[in-house]
Amino acid sequence: MKKNKLFAILTMAGFLFSCSPAPGKYDGPSFYTLDDFTRVPKIDAHVHIRTYDSSFVQQAKHDNFRLLSIVVEEEPGMSLQQQYAIAQKKSFPGTVAFATTFSLDDFNSSSWVNRTIDGLRASVDQGAIAVKVYKSIGMELRDPQGNMVMVDNPKFNPVWDFLVKNNVPVIGHLGEPKNCWLPVEQMTVSSDKRYYSRHPEFHMYLHPEYPSYEEQMQARDNMVAQHTGLKFIGAHLGSLEWDTDALAKRLDRFPNMAVDMAARISHLQLQAMNDRQKVYDFFVRYQDRLIYGTDRIVDDTKPAEEMKAFVHRAWLDDWKFFCTEDTMRSSAFDGVFKGLKLPKTVVDKIYYTNAANWFNQFK
Ligand SMILES: [Zn+2]
Repeated sequence: MKKNKLFAILTMAGFLFSCSPAPGKYDGPSFYTLDDFTRVPKIDAHVHIRTYDSSFVQQAKHDNFRLLSIVVEEEPGMSLQQQYAIAQKKSFPGTVAFATTFSLDDFNSSSWVNRTIDGLRASVDQGAIAVKVYKSIGMELRDPQGNMVMVDNPKFNPVWDFLVKNNVPVIGHLGEPKNCWLPVEQMTVSSDKRYYSRHPEFHMYLHPEYPSYEEQMQARDNMVAQHTGLKFIGAHLGSLEWDTDALAKRLDRFPNMAVDMAARISHLQLQAMNDRQKVYDFFVRYQDRLIYGTDRIVDDTKPAEEMKAFVHRAWLDDWKFFCTEDTMRSSAFDGVFKGLKLPKTVVDKIYYTNAANWFNQFK
């Protein structure tokens, strides 16, 4: 009750503040329109550029986006992905930044920790501003006894300590959407239905012997709780995409945690269809902890013009959802929902300031 009252006061204060702009700080009305899209500087803090081709970055520049390209331990391999990232950053130093990762090969050897820290140090020297941790921890990696290694395993501690010392944030994709533990026909969005139909190895409903959704979330929570100095950005809404209340609980508990929205905006739209005010309030309340990202994967498989039109359209659709109150539809589920029409001050944070702050020295 107390909390709700405080929240109401804070919301009111934010509202009053946005109505009486500090001189020189705000111009024009308190909300953006669709026409403001290219004018407002933005960051897409979760993309995967897997090419030397510049078409995607050109489109980003045109749409006023800076990009964080994330290297992952998957096809086409970490080292090639990192070469792409370094080359793109070199060609577009103000526009492209990158996050590195580490290999889990030979995890059970005694030299793994030192080798991993040396590798991370080299990547940071080459310009990496964050480190991606992938769901293979908790879903594939096993200890010498054959048990699944979870992210709160103490063997990782020296790695987290190294990152804390060097003020390098972690982007954690741990666990999967809750849908992953459901049969395909019960999943809430079509993108999950498609993905798990194609990747039965990651469809946990088919693997009841693997850790449960709750165990995945618990291991991640333990890791974040044990390393309070670590800046932890939960990728994909921290795998708590299904309920803003569940995510709010973690954000309340862990001041060192933020989340990106990559590939999970449809889950927010689904919740907005059922209770728009709840999703709006969530964004206002956690406006300093939510980071825009798409999970766009760019390689050479699509013709450049087609890809550019596609990413532009997708970026614009997201802008429409956050900035306007237009009635919209998503290809991910049936039904209509309205845009959130967040205040400019909140939009600026989720689209720019938060990424700049959480990924310090985004340059
Ligand atoms: Zn991704």
